[in-house]
Parts: sequence; structure tokens; C-alpha cells
Amino acid sequence: MSSQISSRLLRLWLSLALIAAATFICYVAIHANATTAGFVFLVGILVIAATWGLIEALVASGAAMLCFNYFFLPPVGRLAIADPQNWAALLTFVATALIASHLSDRARKEAHEAKRRQQETERLYELSRVILLTGTARHIYFQVAQNLARIFECRSVAIYDPETATISYGGQQQLPEIEARLKQVLTATAPAQDPASDVLIAGIAGSGRALGSLAMAGISLSDNALQALLKLVAIALEGARTQQAATHAEAVRQSEEFKSTLLDAIAHEFKTPLTSIKVASTSILTDVPDLSPQVRELTSIIDEEASRLNLLVTDAVRMAQMDASKIQLEKQPVAVAEFVGRVLEDFRPRLNGRSLRVNLSQTLPRIAADPDLASMALRQVIDNGFKYSLPASAIEVAADASAEWVTIRVRDQGPGIPKRESERIFDRFYRRRVAKDRVPGSGLGLYIAREIVRAHGGDLWVESVVGSGSEFCLMLPAQEEPVRS
Ligand code: ADP
Repeated sequence: MSSQISSRLLRLWLSLALIAAATFICYVAIHANATTAGFVFLVGILVIAATWGLIEALVASGAAMLCFNYFFLPPVGRLAIADPQNWAALLTFVATALIASHLSDRARKEAHEAKRRQQETERLYELSRVILLTGTARHIYFQVAQNLARIFECRSVAIYDPETATISYGGQQQLPEIEARLKQVLTATAPAQDPASDVLIAGIAGSGRALGSLAMAGISLSDNALQALLKLVAIALEGARTQQAATHAEAVRQSEEFKSTLLDAIAHEFKTPLTSIKVASTSILTDVPDLSPQVRELTSIIDEEASRLNLLVTDAVRMAQMDASKIQLEKQPVAVAEFVGRVLEDFRPRLNGRSLRVNLSQTLPRIAADPDLASMALRQVIDNGFKYSLPASAIEVAADASAEWVTIRVRDQGPGIPKRESERIFDRFYRRRVAKDRVPGSGLGLYIAREIVRAHGGDLWVESVVGSGSEFCLMLPAQEEPVRS
């Protein structure tokens, strides 16, 4: 600030010196008449206005008017005017000097403004070029900060990334205590200039979310240029994020596809020998007479374990098919009571005194479902009820409906599932620690059941009270009834 004042003072002194020099040349050196002297003063004033500005030109005009009067208008040597015509000459001189100063200053400012705009445009163009070339690079926040500092020649640039809570710097200096302010402006819509310093600070908004915030020290930009700069930075950050997300999604997809293909291949390779083992063990147990108790027991173990492995492999194949989206739904209108009744039939031989209660209203709408796949999902949930609750406890199947959905509820009186695990049990291969030790299983059943229900557009979840039991809810879409005319 003080340097600005002293440079203006210097320019004022130089302006006065220039008028003094013009006076000296006209009066002492060439003895110019009043007209010539007037023109020389005017040229001097124009030069001052074009080079330094209006204030300097006005001061020079004042000084020139006094010199013109004193040295060139009669009576010479006095600040007075004898001939009224000379008043007209003096006033014309003053008016010309003022108008010329004003016009010249305006032209100077316009030229300056045009140059500034051109520079801003060139810099924004350079920034967009750099962003196009490095737009999806890693460490994008750091790259943008570095490029901003270089292109806009600012002392310091800091960009805050809310996702990693880190700041990337560009430029020669660090900005002290900037973190808190960057966090504050994350969601601010308008850029703000800190009055105490020359730091400009603004939030960077992407489509619908805050991408970060930006602080720049030692930069002076028009509003339009600043908005364009913020948009370019937002494009760079958003582009990089989108690209990263797409790359990640593609990597996940490829890895899933690979896993599914591998699992599919392995499972098929297992199936044939397993079927042979199972056929052989069952034949030994049923067809071979007089087996010693020890051989019978060992063969039973082979038989049971072959069944278990077979189940696991079947689940794995289903899962692989589902992951590869190979399962095509063949939806049709399905009456809920009939559908549930058919699934429950399969469990009758396993009841062993267990009560299986069905509580279905006859007014339930039909569901739009693939009957084979939907019954696989329901069977899985009921099967779990059998596996994880005491043999004497009851299992109940009920259903309710809304306008668009039918929810089939399978309730057991088993150990229940703690809230923190109520989502995890639907993960692939996840088995609760308690179950692992006691009940055989693959950890795939609920995963497959949920995938099937979700493929129908519905959902499968559990509501449970630890110690009292669990309720698995299969929500399937209700069939839209055709409009009868
Ligand atoms: P699996 O039964 O083969 O272990 P699932 O995917 O069917 O695999 O089930 C995952 C886990 O969820 C089981 O290991 C068990 O711990 C728990 N679980 C499932 N159903 C019930 C239930 N009705 N009651 C208590 N726990 C259950």
C-alpha cells in the first residue's frame, strides 16, 4: 500500500517537472508565443494522461494553466489577464487539457483492460489444455494445484479434498492456517476475498456434491474469469473421480467374472466324481448284505459327506450362474397360497413332530415370479429355519400384501440373529461362528436366495430378536391384474 502511495507521489513530481521543462523550453530556449506554448503544454498533458493516468494529468493541467497564464499571456510575469480575449484562450486551454486528459486516460484504461482480458483468456485456455491432457491422472488435486500456481503465477495455491481430508499445495509458499477456512467454504456458492490478505477462497462444486475448496494467494481475476477457472477445476476433479470409479468398477467386474468362471469350471469338475461316490456309497449301504458295523459306519460317513459336498457344489454353481447374470427369469402370475403349499410339501417328511403353521389369507394378490427360482429362495429360508431352531419348535409361514408387493414371512423360534450381523448373513460364504461348529452349510444359501428375490425387483431381509427367533421376509412384486372391461 505505502509503495503505491510513494510511486504515485513520484509520478506527480515527474508530471510537474515535465510541465516545468516545457515552460523552460518555450519561455527561455525558443521564446515561443502563447499559441505554440499552449500546444506544447497540451502534448505534455496528453503524454502524462496516456502514461500515468487521470490524477497526474489533472495536476499537470493545473500547473500548465498557471505557467501559461504567468509566462505567456499578457501581462507577462503576473497571474493576471489584461485582454478579455485571453480569458477565452486560457479557458479553451483548460477545457482542452481536461477533455484530452480524460479521453486519453480512458483509452489507457481500456487498453489495459483489454490486455488483462486477453491474458486471462490465454491462461484459461492453457489451464483447459493442461486439464485435457492430465484430466484423469492420479493425484489430480496435486496436479491441478501445481498447474494453477504456474499458469496464473500466484504465490500459493491450496486445494482441499474432502474425501481424503488432505490439502494439495502449489506455488512457492504455504498458506498458514488455511485448512479450517478451506473446510468452511466447502459448500459456499460464491468465492470470497479475505480482506486481511490477498487470498481468494472458493468452494468447488460438482454436479450435486462438493468436490473440494480452493485458496489462491496473489491472484487478481475478473469475476467471469474466476467463475470459468472454478468450472474448469471442477471439470478436472469430477472427470478424474468418474474415471477412477469406472476403472474400479471395471476391475471389480473383471475379477467377479473371473471368479465366477473359475468357480463354475471347478464345480462342474467336482460334480461327476461326487455323483459316482454318492451312487457307490448308497449302493454299498443298500445292496451289500452283512456289512460289518464298522464298514457300515464308515460308508455312512462317506455317503453323508458326499451329499454335503454335492450340496455345496450345487450352491456354488448357482452362485456362479447368478454372478454371471446367466439366470433368466420366466415370470408368470403365481398364487401365493398354492406356491407356499408346494414348497412346504417338500418339508413334510422332515417334520418329526415339529409344528409347521401356515397363516395365509385367501385374498392375497398373485405374485409375478419365476416359480422355480422363487420356490428355491423360499425353500432356502425355510430350510434354515429347520437347521437353526430346535427340532420341537414351531415354524410359521405368513404373508401380507400392499398395492405393489406381497411379503412372505418365515418365522422360527431359533437363536435369533444379532442386529450387527443381520446384513452380513446375506454375504457370500458368511456363516455365523455359532453355526459353523454345529450345523453343516456353505454360507451361500441366503446370498443366493436374496439374489433371486432381488432379480425379481423385490428384497429379502431378516427381522430378529436374539433369543426369541428370526423372521425372514421375502418381498415379491404383486402381479398387476389385467383391467376388466
Ligand atoms: P448356511 O446355512 O449354509 O451357513 P446361509 O447363507 O443360509 O448359509 O446362512 C448364513 C448364516 O446365517 C448361517 O450360517 C447362520 O449362522 C445364519 N442363519 C441363517 N438362517 C438363520 C436362522 N433361521 N436362525 C439363525 N441363524 C440363521
